[in-house]
Amino acid sequence: MYKNYADKKVFFLDLDGTVYLSDTLISGAKEAIEALRQNAKVFFLTNNSSKSRDTYAKKLTNLGIPTSREDIITSSGATAHYLKLNGIKEVSVLGTDGLKDELKENGINVVKSAKTAVLGFDTDLSYANLCAFCDLIRGGARYIATHPDFNCPTKDGFIPDVGSFMALINASTGRSPEVICGKPNAIMAKYALSRAQALPSEAVMVGDRIYTDLKFGADNGISAALVLTGEGTREELASSGVTADVFNSLYDIVFYGVGEKFKQKLGAGLSGIKNIFAKRSKNSAHVPQDSLPNEDSSTLPNASCRTDYEAMNEAKKVDDSPIFTSKTEDLTNE
Ligand SMILES: [Mg+2]
Repeated sequence: MYKNYADKKVFFLDLDGTVYLSDTLISGAKEAIEALRQNAKVFFLTNNSSKSRDTYAKKLTNLGIPTSREDIITSSGATAHYLKLNGIKEVSVLGTDGLKDELKENGINVVKSAKTAVLGFDTDLSYANLCAFCDLIRGGARYIATHPDFNCPTKDGFIPDVGSFMALINASTGRSPEVICGKPNAIMAKYALSRAQALPSEAVMVGDRIYTDLKFGADNGISAALVLTGEGTREELASSGVTADVFNSLYDIVFYGVGEKFKQKLGAGLSGIKNIFAKRSKNSAHVPQDSLPNEDSSTLPNASCRTDYEAMNEAKKVDDSPIFTSKTEDLTNE
């Protein structure tokens, strides 16, 4: 294993762009995870609050990485964790059944008209439900969002994510969320570390998105590792102000310096990845065409998939409690 991480006990892995791209496993990811699991705990962290933990566990297992729901940490879980810690037992939700089920499993009632409104990634969005949610916000309900990402990557391009919904709701109601729970916020870090029963110094966050994955690590005392198999590039990291180590891939973190044989194998994988990114970026107004990689380049495009920072910074003021500092603090019963 790469020397800097030899003593780490927990690896938090982002999914899309780190372990797989859409439905394609990234070269070497399976082997790297098998090796990591021999010496450390591995958890998969995603901000996507539209899908259940069972859905992710099934997808990873089908890709050849045996995974249980307990190995998955989502922003839905972080939101449930936050609500429980703050004694909130009843909420209204704009989101999928996956989010509602996670909240219900944690003893939180989901009702039509509550004093707290939770915004998730509602991929089944209906106009009537959107209007009802805006009514609650306009009426003064406490407003919580699962995560801040503006866009979600799919194999066919970007689709509007929670950050975009926040912008729409803000235009209608004049309000932004008081709390945002997903990466890079401390709420997600506290939740993830409590699930792993680890200290920040014992963990590594590996991901491809600088302003969520790596900022999550850097802001919360967790080592951050950028992998170049997704969105983020060395150049973007250098100008971001975020401190992180850089690797070609998850495989390189485990088998650093393995030699030309693997690099050739990864090279073949990278052409496939670049094709997927070219397709994803086709319909995105955020990605200039000249940012797409050249055929002979190993650099992936800087797909500008930002988060709603203004809203996030506002929300952060509400939760300034210190990061998890001991293994006995803040543990959930999951
Ligand atoms: Mg990613």
